[in-house]
Amino acid sequence: MSKVFVTGGTGYIGSHTVLELLRNGHEVVVMDNLSNSSAESLNRVKALTGISVPFYQADLLDKEAMSAIFAEHTFESVVHFAGLKAVGESVEKPLWYYKNNITGTLNLLEVMQENRVKNLVFSSSCTVYGEPDKVPISEDAPLSAVNPYGQTKLTIEYILRDLFQADQDWNMAILRYFNPVGADQSGTMGEDPNGIPNNLMPYVTQVAVGHLPYLRVFGNDYPTQDGTGIRDYIHVTDLALGHLKAIETLRLSPGLIRCNLGTGNGYSVLDVVKAFETASGVAIPYQFMPRRAGDAAAAYADPTLAETLLGWRAERDLEQMCKDSWKWQVNNPNGYS
Ligand code: NAD
Ligand code: UDP
Repeated sequence: MSKVFVTGGTGYIGSHTVLELLRNGHEVVVMDNLSNSSAESLNRVKALTGISVPFYQADLLDKEAMSAIFAEHTFESVVHFAGLKAVGESVEKPLWYYKNNITGTLNLLEVMQENRVKNLVFSSSCTVYGEPDKVPISEDAPLSAVNPYGQTKLTIEYILRDLFQADQDWNMAILRYFNPVGADQSGTMGEDPNGIPNNLMPYVTQVAVGHLPYLRVFGNDYPTQDGTGIRDYIHVTDLALGHLKAIETLRLSPGLIRCNLGTGNGYSVLDVVKAFETASGVAIPYQFMPRRAGDAAAAYADPTLAETLLGWRAERDLEQMCKDSWKWQVNNPNGYS
């Protein structure tokens, strides 16, 4: 099997993808600057697989450090997760987001090109659809960015498109994730956000474990069945497996692929609360608050292209997502620390 370089591989989605790559016989090398993660995630990977993954604590902005890693290994492909992802922070620190995400990606692409490694899977996001005018969202929906974070994803998508147009030796899969939640079924790995979570599921699990008093539900006056926002939550293990399918697809039918990774099911905030309460047996107190700026009423994927192109579809349901998120949080109330 192939040797895969994973940037951002100690992070939430990266570490789960490393786990699935190893479980499926790939060789993996990880780099991360640990700005938003802990190398403990790779110890957990080792406990589950018996494999100690080579890890480089390095920064995408340090091109020399990346070149040194490529000099030591022969990679078949790169899965590029590393990047900053907090929407609010990106509004406050746009230059930092543009530099880290875009300059960092340019450095990576240059090093790949210099080493003739031209197979790339890139973490994009449904944020590139801006405020969608219809659901489900298919890949041909109009693209726009409503904050600097989204603009970095969109810009990188355009950079990859232009690079492919200039040199068709590149093979690229641009994967637009919907809302990743859940954790490996073992309960030993999961999402470990810094500080107070921005996202719904880690907020809910932290209320359940007693770290936060109640959930703030942002908006109950959306034109949805219960007034709360609707999203397409996808189990992180399904998402990780989508990356394995993308690597295989690039090998069998080279080119440039863009596709959604979502389930195609939309659930409201209150649906998630109810499903979590059933899965955990813990009541989640909540209060309605005003809408959060920039939130769409409803966003869920049309997932058919991923099935056609990658032969992939999400298998795990909302109950499983809630069970696994809870198992991780209750076994690791303080995350990896
Ligand atoms: P994460 O923060 O857990 O992982 C990203 C990792 O990148 C972190 O470990 C961080 O330390 C590392 N990193 C950041 N800047 C770096 C740099 N300059 N050099 C080296 N490492 C750096 O986030 P995640 O949820 O696992 O997201 C992974 C990718 O998926 C990101 O690109 C994110 O934008 C994208 N994405 C995430 C979501 C989501 O809701 N989690 C949704 C859509 C897309
Ligand atoms: N949400 C909420 N309370 C929170 C966090 C999120 O009500 O503490 C809502 C949010 O308004 C949206 C949904 O939950 O309707 C998913 O939000 P999240 O931040 O997880 O993902 P997004 O789709 O915004 O990237």
